[in-house]
Amino acid sequence: MAARIIDGKAIAADVRSKVAAEVKRLTTRHGLTPGLAVVLAGNNPASESYVGSKAKATKEAGMNSFDYRLPDSVSQAELLALVKKLNTDPVVHGILVQLPLPKQVDAQIVLDAIDPVKDVDGFHPVNAGWLASGLPALAPCTPLGCIILAKTVYPSLAGLEAVVIGRSNIVGKPMAQLLLAENATVTITHSKTRDLPTVCRRADLLVAAVGRPEMVRGDWIKPGATVIDVGINRVPGTDGKSRLVGDVAFAEAVSIAGAITPVPGGVGPMTIACLMVNTVRAACAIAGLPAPSV
Ligand code: NAD
Repeated sequence: MAARIIDGKAIAADVRSKVAAEVKRLTTRHGLTPGLAVVLAGNNPASESYVGSKAKATKEAGMNSFDYRLPDSVSQAELLALVKKLNTDPVVHGILVQLPLPKQVDAQIVLDAIDPVKDVDGFHPVNAGWLASGLPALAPCTPLGCIILAKTVYPSLAGLEAVVIGRSNIVGKPMAQLLLAENATVTITHSKTRDLPTVCRRADLLVAAVGRPEMVRGDWIKPGATVIDVGINRVPGTDGKSRLVGDVAFAEAVSIAGAITPVPGGVGPMTIACLMVNTVRAACAIAGLPAPSV
């Protein structure tokens, strides 16, 4: 039997409408309109497109969107001064500095300068530490989205065997921490893992975040397992144009898994939806209000 296809686009739309409802409640009951500041340095076309989508989603949710466009020649000191100003600006509840930054800027220093309570990307080491300690934290948006997708299959992840492929700070590690917080039994695998297919076959929930096109084959998957494919890889298509594939060989996996995310249309749309979630969560935390219901 073919796997259920997890419709990330529809689930992301649902998350965004829940955020919009929370924003409406905060604005009418508490006079609080969450605000997200997005900083873009340079003119990388992919970054410009991401930033545009983020601003659109922010406005659609009823939140304030503040756009800061800086030239490619911006200095580290100028960027740090802007971050410092946004840290203390009361109408800004979330700060996102779009990566990559121009080569003269040390991205880690800039990200570390963001006030952790406004760090809606969840990349600040303080947020990573809070997350690892089981404390309230702003978690990175992509793994947050993966948890929401997994919960549409298993309302509780407690006790599940979860295997994460990849140990990046942006996806793999926070993914593992979020799964642990959900009481899953978590294995983190990476490029040095021995016999990866055998480890993956243990998984009730397999999350692939590698960046290698279709590396995970059908026979790596336990029959009936849920597969969350984070990978976004551009490969040459048969028609001479390029096409997007995930880290999982979808055509093989779909007949073995119980549920699977497609690429595109799976994890991708969840990332911006969870950025909206983090912004509304940050606004509530800063205002001393209870956490929102989303
Ligand atoms: P990364 O390059 O920082 O990390 C990749 C990880 O994969 C590393 O930890 C490495 O140890 C592991 N790895 C590499 N080769 C391996 C192998 N042969 N076997 C097992 N593990 C191996 O990448 P990342 O930032 O974590 O992103 C991973 C993928 O997810 C990329 O395709 C990226 O484009 C995609 N991504 C998607 C979204 C989204 O919104 N959907 C967001 C972030 C990243």
